[in-house]
Amino acid sequence: MLLRLRKNLGPSELESVLAVARDLDLATRFLDAQRTVLELVGPADPRARSRFEDLAAVSAVLDSSDQPELVDRTRDRADTVVHIAEAVFGGDSASLIAGPCAVESAERLFEIAASVRAAGAALLRGGAYKPRTSPHSFQGLGAQGLALLAEARARTGLGIVTEVLDPRDVEVVGRSADAFQIGSRSMANAALLVEVGKSGKPVLLKRGLAATVREFLLAAEYVLAQGNPNVILCERGIRGFDKFTRNVLDVGAVAHLKLATHLPVVVDPSHAAGRADLVRPLARAGLAAGADGLVIETHPAPHEVHSDGAQAVSLPLFAEIARDAQAILALDDRHLRPTLYSPLGSPQLGV
Ligand code: PEP
Ligand code: MN
Repeated sequence: MLLRLRKNLGPSELESVLAVARDLDLATRFLDAQRTVLELVGPADPRARSRFEDLAAVSAVLDSSDQPELVDRTRDRADTVVHIAEAVFGGDSASLIAGPCAVESAERLFEIAASVRAAGAALLRGGAYKPRTSPHSFQGLGAQGLALLAEARARTGLGIVTEVLDPRDVEVVGRSADAFQIGSRSMANAALLVEVGKSGKPVLLKRGLAATVREFLLAAEYVLAQGNPNVILCERGIRGFDKFTRNVLDVGAVAHLKLATHLPVVVDPSHAAGRADLVRPLARAGLAAGADGLVIETHPAPHEVHSDGAQAVSLPLFAEIARDAQAILALDDRHLRPTLYSPLGSPQLGV
């Protein structure tokens, strides 16, 4: 690892750096006469980079490739493959997560669950606790919503993904959910990340609306640091300056994350676009960039919903997206799980 130090450090400032190096068992050597580039050699420790970044005397960590963090892809770490019910994310497998933004009524939820299952979704998503920007907006059905999700699972066999907003709710939400969603607004809630980490259940971690890729990965690091390897990174668009879409889908981040980490990555084109007519092309782009799955908001009557109606795709459109997904994955020798079958029994390659 190489550190760039600030110029003209006093002895005590320099000592602050050397003390951390000693604590981590790292040998130190200056590489330049001005004593601003410090080489550190010793055992790999995922804490090292952050410990040095926090020091006022350090202006940059130049190279930390020998100090991998838990999320980093390294030669000896195979792809993490996360299994949730029939869904498989990572390696050569991808799956689809679909459902309404929020759980609103039993009839609608069961109708959507049955249709998305028939169209190829492996998991049902729906919020019982909704993280709304305004406290006056619909906040979700809470415990009643959780009970409906559990009932939908019993009826269809679909695994359930639902958001948990509060560390105190992890246990109760975990009773109805097969995976926790951590929403954008909660990505940096360390207490919540620690709690879902301790649960051991899979975590769908959404990127914060203005989070850098590094901040996103450090949020995942919190979960992994609790001994829970089942993290799926979800790119859902970041805030841009133009209003023609709700957010800007960062396809570059999807491709980068696939190279930089061993974790599966999924794309949520619904919250990125904010409009139903762009969901299908963005879904295609996400999978082509290497995503291991999609999260799609789906509803038969978008004008009736209390949250995110404008971006909800119809059930027939979701079925087309599922066919697209299978065809795009096949280009990379990857597979949609479960596989879609045409009436003739061979995979349907949609266009
Ligand atoms: C959602 O999934 O409905 C949601 C609120 O998403 P995000 O946290 O990405 O805004
Ligand atoms: Mn939503």
